[in-house]
Amino acid sequence: MPHRAALNLLEQQLDYPLGDRLPATGQTLEVAPGIKWIRMALPFALDHINLWLLRDEIDSPDGSGVRLQGWTVVDCCISRDEARAQWEQIFANELDGLPILRVIVTHMHPDHIGLAHWLCARWKAPLWISATDYNAARIGSQSTTGFGGEGAALFFASHGLTDAESVEKIRGRSSYYPSMVPDVPRSFRRMQDGDTVSIGGRNWSCISGYGHAPEHISLSCAGLNVLIAGDMMLPRISTNVSVYDVEPESNPLKAFLDSIDKFRALPQDTLVLPSHGKPFTGLHTRIDQLHDHHRDRLAEVMEACAAAPQSGADILPVMFKRVLDLHQTTFAMGEAVAHLHLLWFAGKLQRRLGADGVWRFRVA
Ligand SMILES: [Zn+2]
Repeated sequence: MPHRAALNLLEQQLDYPLGDRLPATGQTLEVAPGIKWIRMALPFALDHINLWLLRDEIDSPDGSGVRLQGWTVVDCCISRDEARAQWEQIFANELDGLPILRVIVTHMHPDHIGLAHWLCARWKAPLWISATDYNAARIGSQSTTGFGGEGAALFFASHGLTDAESVEKIRGRSSYYPSMVPDVPRSFRRMQDGDTVSIGGRNWSCISGYGHAPEHISLSCAGLNVLIAGDMMLPRISTNVSVYDVEPESNPLKAFLDSIDKFRALPQDTLVLPSHGKPFTGLHTRIDQLHDHHRDRLAEVMEACAAAPQSGADILPVMFKRVLDLHQTTFAMGEAVAHLHLLWFAGKLQRRLGADGVWRFRVA
């Protein structure tokens, strides 16, 4: 979440080859040969997601050796009527009468995997995803807590979010994940770092990314000079990097920064297809911007901790200079703890558990 004033200056250092053009609802925009951009609305502060249709051909799964023509979908949107209706328009008008052959999901967050079960069932298409994210999505969609509830409330409280109203709301938000991901296909095809996937006769490389989701997979195609970045490389906002209750001693910010450095192996003029915002070029510039952004936030956190021991909740007004609603507060808390943890793992901060059950971080 970059500061507003700095936003436009940073964006000016990137190029948007399509200008301000956006695909209309239920339509697509071709961004590279055989790659169509779909944009769907989301009912959140982050109000849209980009999905991709890739012209494809695969061997028929019946073993006949026949080559099937069709499309591979990358990412799906959350499960809701508006998204299904928009998909129906796409099926009717944008597939050249061909089927969906395969559903690729970059990671397990609801806006990416929510409708995978529906798309896979409707087209009898396989799901391709990392094993880690498949299993996390399966657990999240089938559990009554769905990554929220009591565990999350206790975790946030241990980092200083203790006001009764917030704690009660977090506790009550227990079926948040399954409400957007009601089901996940019963089987999947694994994607791992370094795998090559042939799509439409072109080779795409899988690039794992950590710190945002358990095992996010981006896909790059040297032949097209295109990177389907998912959420690992966004032009306008910084990717959410959070510590969660299921892995309370993680260091996701270190993992994220290490992961985005892997993209430096791709050319600066790579056309980056992000899950939010517009397709852009200036990959290395954006990697540098994200490092700078987090370096600045880390410096602010260090400064605050030098003045007095700080909990995650204490850090919120240091890192986020605006009013946050509860949804934003939970994201921001995860991010604040992620910054504290990077400094803690680096030996720059120590933490102590107070008599009130709250972790506070001080300069080592
Ligand atoms: Zn995500």
